Amino acid sequence: MTVTDTRLLLDSLVNSGLSGKEPSREELLAVLATGDDELLDVVAAAARLRREFFGVRVKLNYLVNLKSGLCPEDCTYCSQRLGGKTEILKYSWLSPQDAAKTASAGVAGGAKRVCLVASGRGPSDRDVTRVGETIAAIRDENPQVEVCACLGLLSDGQAEKLRDYGVDAYNHNLNTSEDQYGDICSTHDYADRVETVGKAREAGLSPCSGLIAGMGETDADLVDVVLKLREIDSDSVPVNFLIPFDGTPLEGTWELTPQRCLRILAMVRFAVPDREVRIAGGRELHLRTLQPLALHVANSIFLGDYLTSEGQAGADDLKMIADGGFSVEGAGETTLPENREEVRVRRRGAGTEVAPNA
Ligand code: SF4
Repeated sequence: MTVTDTRLLLDSLVNSGLSGKEPSREELLAVLATGDDELLDVVAAAARLRREFFGVRVKLNYLVNLKSGLCPEDCTYCSQRLGGKTEILKYSWLSPQDAAKTASAGVAGGAKRVCLVASGRGPSDRDVTRVGETIAAIRDENPQVEVCACLGLLSDGQAEKLRDYGVDAYNHNLNTSEDQYGDICSTHDYADRVETVGKAREAGLSPCSGLIAGMGETDADLVDVVLKLREIDSDSVPVNFLIPFDGTPLEGTWELTPQRCLRILAMVRFAVPDREVRIAGGRELHLRTLQPLALHVANSIFLGDYLTSEGQAGADDLKMIADGGFSVEGAGETTLPENREEVRVRRRGAGTEVAPNA
């Protein structure tokens, strides 16, 4: 691509992002095909959208692994799959008190949201009740904290129960394109995942769904999954970079460079300009010294450790945020741009039995 072509592409993507127009598949593919010598231009264009919708705020999220390992599913990227040889911590459900204690550490470190994660195909109704008890214990200590649950595939009625227990959001990543899904998992399929995200949204939970890069996918796979995430209207989009644990089928898969990670993040920002784009697992391993640059594209990160691997020290994250001229998003601040909530379909007045708004 010539310098002029790249400028035209980036201008077009910024204009689309600002006007709410969906970028084309070709434009998103072209972002992934830009060269390292064009990287700062790509980051600067994505940063315009980030600043427009999120200012200089960085949202911090904190993972609490409620139940670790021994999962019957066979996701190839996961260190928690049954029979996996990775020497991770394995334990059954944390008590509500232990989970609340861990969550409090994250909140004290600056986290606005805690993400309660449990390994497994999906929760039993007893598990959902247990998560409800855990949320009550967390809210006793931190009434204002946002809670996201990530418990796998949901059965009918479970999203509503979680909402009633006070869950704000539900995470279930699509991970990759529909075409590639069969290569990374054989025990459930893409449609199962899409269905669970839909159940969460229908119950009034904020959908959080993202992807994992670095699993042998093509650029087309990455663009496909991101456009699907736009279509299913995910409010937050975690972008994971594969942590190729020893003892998993993807052991030794090191495909990513820091520059490639930045291009992927920028492509996601162009595709979903006003959604929370979160740099998730693999941030330290793959972005390495370019992490601060990624904050100009993404508006959210995980603080502290990941589910089965350790992250960098929380104090270093806070320093990086401050050094870059960013600020940690406070509990009283709204993450998503307020204009996303403005369009309300009328359900009162003419054509209804409800009194008009007058
Ligand atoms: S369902 Fe979740 S915990 Fe189980 S193997 Fe897949 S990613 Fe890992």
